[in-house]
Amino acid sequence: MPKVKYGGQSYECGEQSVLDCLTAQGVHIPSGCRSGICHSCLMCAVDGAVPEKAKAGLKPTLAEQNYFLACACYPQQDIEVVLPNAAMGKLQAQVTSIEHLNADILGIRIKPSRPFEYKAGQFINLCKDEYTVRSYSLASVPELEDELFLNVRRVPNGLMTNWIFGDLKAGDTITISEAEGDCFYVTGNPEQNILLIGSGSGLAPLYGILRDALRKGHSGKISLYHGCYDTAGFYLVEELRKLAQAHPNFSYVPCVSEGEAPEGYALGMVLDIALIDNPDLTGWRVFLCGNPNMVKAAQQKTFFAGASMQDIFADPFG
Ligand SMILES: Cc1cc2nc3c(=O)[nH]c(=O)nc-3n(C[C@H](O)[C@H](O)[C@H](O)COP(=O)(O)OP(=O)(O)OC[C@H]3O[C@@H](n4cnc5c(N)ncnc54)[C@H](O)[C@@H]3O)c2cc1C
Repeated sequence: MPKVKYGGQSYECGEQSVLDCLTAQGVHIPSGCRSGICHSCLMCAVDGAVPEKAKAGLKPTLAEQNYFLACACYPQQDIEVVLPNAAMGKLQAQVTSIEHLNADILGIRIKPSRPFEYKAGQFINLCKDEYTVRSYSLASVPELEDELFLNVRRVPNGLMTNWIFGDLKAGDTITISEAEGDCFYVTGNPEQNILLIGSGSGLAPLYGILRDALRKGHSGKISLYHGCYDTAGFYLVEELRKLAQAHPNFSYVPCVSEGEAPEGYALGMVLDIALIDNPDLTGWRVFLCGNPNMVKAAQQKTFFAGASMQDIFADPFG
């Protein structure tokens, strides 16, 4: 006789539906029509097979993720189920590699356990446990690489980053969310100039957006300004310089804010340098990521330099 596992308890299901089985045991499950129409008894199977009939009428994206209607589900084998809120939008991913991009930033590649739709520059939420969840931007481009690529900067005494730098290793399985956010390249208007300004690991989404735009044949100017205190803070420098050599419409300016700037680097605050080089941003598309103070100031200053509000996309990292 198949059993239904829910909330840590196991119940004999017999020939009943999952909904009848659980409600008979006093478990409260939202339900309405009880005939597969209203979808209010939507649940998700986290273990065990769901009969196809229990997915009838659901969106293919939900069905693929093992969502089903409890009133129409007559399990043939043991099954573990949760309510949508507990599983909605979450998935497992395997860490395939971790490398130091510099002393304080890790490049982490992860492979989601199922097909994962995203746009370069969006972010995912990474769950350390039920209570510790943080956002990380996607530096990867879906059409260019199979894995998701994250750039995580160490934050002193940070709950998540201490765990990532201290414990996380290749082979581990982690829980992530679906991709979110509107900081990504949209096709159309390929001649529009694009300004990308990032500080620290704020380069992550910009690296994804940049490569996505180049891959899609963006022909307008694309100018990337990356700011760090000193040269030790930069990463992906060689990759970016190679892209700049290969694409005459792309320029990369690493900006050092303290001390001296060696050849190939500009000296000063990243936002100031970007605006000195590009004082008139009328008609430009602008992406701003990283330190929240820099991002906030950049939103205002790029707007005052002529960029339209609807063309300014920002992800403050805090
Ligand atoms: C949309 C979005 C995208 C993001 N993408 C990235 C990314 O791609 N890479 C990345 O490294 N981070 C990114 N972040 C930041 C990330 O989500 C975490 O905030 C960061 O990793 C710190 O988490 P923590 O748990 O280690 O620190 P916490 O335990 O949350 O913080 C510890 C202490 O450090 C302070 N603190 C928190 N964050 C910072 C910071 N960035 N700099 C200085 N002090 C800080 C806190 O105020 C607190 O005092 C993003 C944030 C958002 C909102």
